[in-house]
This record gives sequence, structure tokens and C-alpha cells, in this order.
Amino acid sequence: MRNIGLVVVLVLLGACASMQQPAAVERMYVINCGENHVKDVSLWTPGVNVEKPHVFGNHCYLVRHAQGWMLWDSGNADRIAALPNGLANPRGTITAFMRKPLVESLKEIGVAPADIRHFAMSHAHGDHSGNANLFSNATLYIQRAEYAAMFGPEPVKYGFLSTNYEKLKSGPTMMLDGDHDVFGDGSVLIKPAPGHTPGHQVLVVRLPKAGPVMLSGDMVHLVYSWENRVVPSFNFDVAQSGRTIDAMKEYTARTGAQLWINHDMEQHARIPKAPAFVQ
Ligand SMILES: [Zn+2]
Repeated sequence: MRNIGLVVVLVLLGACASMQQPAAVERMYVINCGENHVKDVSLWTPGVNVEKPHVFGNHCYLVRHAQGWMLWDSGNADRIAALPNGLANPRGTITAFMRKPLVESLKEIGVAPADIRHFAMSHAHGDHSGNANLFSNATLYIQRAEYAAMFGPEPVKYGFLSTNYEKLKSGPTMMLDGDHDVFGDGSVLIKPAPGHTPGHQVLVVRLPKAGPVMLSGDMVHLVYSWENRVVPSFNFDVAQSGRTIDAMKEYTARTGAQLWINHDMEQHARIPKAPAFVQ
């Protein structure tokens, strides 16, 4: 009986302690960071939707943590906002749009690029690294394999445009070889999710009300891809991409984390956008 009483007291003390602590992650802003119009979405969904055009959304995520601001992904380049017809890739299969520069969206929230002390990208493709140079004074959290591809001899081989992110090379960098707890309190976790690119990663944010949310990067592009374990044929490693999906399905099932899929416009239509925020 005495032991049970002690357990009850400890549980109550624990509950009080957690009630008194300020939430580590206070809120998160989901920012519209452009659109990518494609002529044939079957490149992303091999076997279905042949020659069907599609509009992919594109988002950046700004996390307000008690220890400071963190930005995840940096969207299409702000300079694209000056091009009313967007910017097409050389083969004309994708046209990128940026209706409102990221800098303007941040300003509406009351944040300047220099206020952001922590920066990470899911990977270095142009729709995620477009504005990376703005955040070269923040600490960059990156998997070693991605960094090697970005700053190695052949970034083009991985579909990277090095001018998008070249300033990051001289900035503070936290080189990762796996999982990383950004603030040391379990509230913001980087997890390696390779396959789309060599060092692709995802972010898990513990929101104070909504609970854990995994931000997909390009692990999958659509809810369809997640449900059917489908990845683009142009991924760096298709088999590894499938294993990553399996591992993240296990993780989300075990932790109850929701998966928010960066490019799925339909799914994101239900999520409030900046300057509103989610908790
Ligand atoms: Zn992408």
C-alpha cells in the first residue's frame, strides 16, 4: 500500500511539473512557398496518371520554440516572384511559381531572416533550397551524405543547383549522421529519411495541442504515394526510398504522429497558413 501511495504522489508531482513548464514548441507557421506545375504527374506516381498535369503545392515551416526560431525548408527562390509566367526547367516538364516571396511572408509574421537561428532543409533540390542563402548565419542541420552531394564535385548529378545554397558553406553547420534532437528537449527531431536524395531527412515537431507532426519533405509527394508506397522513378535510390517509407510508417504508428506532406496541396488546404499558425 505504501508503495502505491508513493507512486500516486510521484505521478501527481510529475503532472504539476509538466503543467508549470512553458511549452517548448509554442507554435508553427505553415508558409506558402510556391507552386510547381507539372505536365505529367506519372513521373511522381509511376504506373498511374500518365500524361496528367498536376499542381504541387510547396511549403516552408517556421517553428517558434522557447529557445528561438527554426525554419524547415526554404521553398522556391524569391526571385521567381518577379516572373509572372514562372520559371520552367530546361526540359519544360516543371514550371515553378512563387506568388509571394518568403521574405514577405516572414515579415508578415514579424520575423526577419536574421532572426532565424536554426535552419534545416529536407534536401537540397531547388524547391526546398531556393532561399537557403538567406539563412547562412543560422546553424544548418544537415545529414553528412546530403552535404557531400551538395558541395562535392557533381551537385548537378543529384539535381542540385549550387548557387541556391552556396553561402551555407561558410556558415555554422551541425553535421548529422542520423537522428538529432534540435533543442535537446525532444520537441523537434530530425530523422534521416534517405532515398529521394542521399541525405534526405524529415522533421518531427511536437505541437502543444495537435501533438507530433512529421514534415515529409519529399519522402513522399502525395497522400497517394504514402498509402501506396510509390516514389518517383528519378529518386536517387528507389529501393532505399521504399525502406524509408516503411521505417517512417512504423514510427508514425508507434508515436501517433501525423504526416504532413509538403507538396500535397489538397492535404495542406485543411491546414491554416501564415500569418495564422498551428499549435
Ligand atoms: Zn520537392
